[in-house]
Amino acid sequence: MPLVNIFISPHPDDISLSLGCYIKSLTGRKIIITTHCRSFDDDGMADQTITRKKEELAFAEKVNAEVIFLDLPDTNCRGASWWNFDYTLNKKDNDLIARLLINKITSIAKAYNLFCPLGVGMHPDHIACYYSSLQIFSHLRQPPESVFFYEEIPYSLLSKSRLLSQEAFLRKGELFEFLIQTDEKIRLLECYTSQLQPEHINQIASGHSKERMIKYNHSIISKSTCITAEYLALMDGIKLV
Ligand SMILES: [Zn+2]
Repeated sequence: MPLVNIFISPHPDDISLSLGCYIKSLTGRKIIITTHCRSFDDDGMADQTITRKKEELAFAEKVNAEVIFLDLPDTNCRGASWWNFDYTLNKKDNDLIARLLINKITSIAKAYNLFCPLGVGMHPDHIACYYSSLQIFSHLRQPPESVFFYEEIPYSLLSKSRLLSQEAFLRKGELFEFLIQTDEKIRLLECYTSQLQPEHINQIASGHSKERMIKYNHSIISKSTCITAEYLALMDGIKLV
């Protein structure tokens, strides 16, 4: 049975930014599940949601992938604070995301690889996806063949996110690095004109020569509470200014 590659993306643009060249290189069926894609609905800016979805679909066409939007409200839409985000108080939200992911993944494929965000930028939506991803493994009827946690670009350009990322990669996982072609990365990021100015695109594409992810084995995933505890400790130790 051919393997489907399923990518969990907190927002439209995260897979393009973090794994754009890698996903393009893959053959077979590729599906991006974008969780938090509703922006500013209560603010008369619903257009932004539509625009961002269109941009994601344009990218998906370039890399021959399908997109599923879960339509959860993003941080701005919820009025949630980035810097005072309490990771432990958001269990209810994480449970909901996990349930939605389990339903979708179960309905998509029996044989698949799963790609989840590492949360290194400490963006609340990314952290929520990270936690939700850890929760789902014990509930999936058919576990993934392989599980990868990817480093989020452009956050990993920041020194403190880089530290967090390095720590994550030092844990018991197998590091995968995909060498990118800058021109190709630029072409893929050009789908996101509402989010990225040309100078940002160049900065991001030239700042990263690789897209990086860790492959976790099932025995580690099944002890996901350990990972969560380690991660919390790590984040406590690295305060953003
Ligand atoms: Zn994001």
